[in-house]
Amino acid sequence: MPAISGDEYKERVDRINAEVWLDGERVAGRISSHPAFKGVVQTQGELYDLQLHPDHTEELTFTSDTTGNKIGTSYLIPKTKEDLEKRRKMIQCWARHSGGLLGRSPDYMNTVLASFAASADLLKGETNCYPDRLLSIYEEAREQDLTFTHTFVNPQTNRGKLAFLDEDVTNARIVRRTKAGLIIQGAKLLATQGGMTDQIIVFSAPGIQENAHAYGFSIPSNTKGLKYICRESFSNGHSSYNSPLSSKFDEMDTVVIFDDVLVPWERVFLHDNIRAADNFYKKGKFVPFTLHQIISRQIVKLEFLLGIAHQIVATINIGDYQHVQAKVVEIIKGLESLKALLHYSECQAEMDNNGTMVPSVEPLYVAINQTQELYPRLIEIIQLLGASGLMTIPQEETFDSSVGEELNHYLKAGDWKGKDRVALFRLAWDLTMSSFGSRQTLYERFFFGDPIRISQTIYQMYDEKPSISLVSWFLKES
Ligand SMILES: Cc1cc2nc3c(=O)[nH]c(=O)nc-3n(C[C@H](O)[C@H](O)[C@H](O)COP(=O)(O)OP(=O)(O)OC[C@H]3O[C@@H](n4cnc5c(N)ncnc54)[C@H](O)[C@@H]3O)c2cc1C
Repeated sequence: MPAISGDEYKERVDRINAEVWLDGERVAGRISSHPAFKGVVQTQGELYDLQLHPDHTEELTFTSDTTGNKIGTSYLIPKTKEDLEKRRKMIQCWARHSGGLLGRSPDYMNTVLASFAASADLLKGETNCYPDRLLSIYEEAREQDLTFTHTFVNPQTNRGKLAFLDEDVTNARIVRRTKAGLIIQGAKLLATQGGMTDQIIVFSAPGIQENAHAYGFSIPSNTKGLKYICRESFSNGHSSYNSPLSSKFDEMDTVVIFDDVLVPWERVFLHDNIRAADNFYKKGKFVPFTLHQIISRQIVKLEFLLGIAHQIVATINIGDYQHVQAKVVEIIKGLESLKALLHYSECQAEMDNNGTMVPSVEPLYVAINQTQELYPRLIEIIQLLGASGLMTIPQEETFDSSVGEELNHYLKAGDWKGKDRVALFRLAWDLTMSSFGSRQTLYERFFFGDPIRISQTIYQMYDEKPSISLVSWFLKES
């Protein structure tokens, strides 16, 4: 099957009918029409339609070796630097459609799966590991343009240093190994888009201490016993004027409960092997490829933020003030640093033993860690520039009422009449202050891992020898 259209995507997520819980009730009926989900489903449908649009097909698809079909570029395992560039352009084309605000547009998980497939050789010869099954999960997804959510992290029951000494009965674990497959019981976090994708990939994040917690598999989202428990919706059918971002891009986050879930053997690529799970995560292609997708998207997001900052500055005419310029320049510095780090990672990419072109991971790690720290500051900058404008935001209904003309007059700025000016400030509010905007900040801080521990990883992985020998030479010779 070639790359799918938006309608095919919607029809599929409706048919899945996974067990999704929201506001104390099981979600019933078509998820694509539900007020909490329809905005994001519609947006993702538009992304799929772009794949088939003559202006974008070249960039967004490639030809499958196995079927000759045109399939999604995010599934491409790069063999050359040109392939890496093609991937970046694809990711940024989709990201531009949402201002980079859809962290989990389908290319994110497609990239994860491609990175897993490119790491399959690490499973060869390892106990309880099945590289061939992983490759067929990847090929099935690639050829059918499947969508995925994922859950890697255990519930926050106990994050203490000695937590592993506890008899832990909350984390999803293997409770039985049967003829038909593994039986999984327990919970895992935090599946963004949980319940609205074809499948869910479940994997053990590093640091597990028991074999029962070491697994890797992918199963249909509607597998019996799987439950997705949603937070409250930040969208809930609001209009695009009132909630320009949350009405379209609220991806939903879910706790996943496994209630005696049977995972058939053909869907399991790793089980009961802590060392292999750790190795796969740390030495495989997951980190470089996923970070390459992430930074490509974040560049678009920072461009979007910069555009909002400039529009606010122009609308209320504050561009002559030096501190205002300096604040805008902070965004520019963040943006240009990300671009430079991404391009450097592509320039320094190297071919691995299997002929896969892998971007250099150090600049990408630095880029994600920098954005985790910088993003909240950039949000603060929009607040500092927008000031009371971020609360002078009557809703569309008020503009359409009998006081609308007065508002158009009193809330005007420069050439902008009130309703248009407020549209811009509602956009800035939805990005920086609404529930949706706050979640965006938390997302950029944490979704790829705890910034503190990512910083530790950079410290541990960075090759200090060249700098040390430079100083040693200096001490001896100069
Ligand atoms: C909006 C959002 C969406 C997400 N989507 C997904 C998803 O789709 N799939 C998925 O699998 N995950 C997802 N995540 C989870 C994400 O991977 C985790 O938030 C991240 O790995 C951090 O883990 P945690 O939230 O459990 O924080 P914790 O590990 O519990 O950390 C909480 C605090 O304790 C500190 N701390 C805890 N342990 C240590 C330690 N060993 N050393 C030092 N400090 C420590 C941390 O620094 C932090 O300040 C999402 C998270 C967010 C916020």
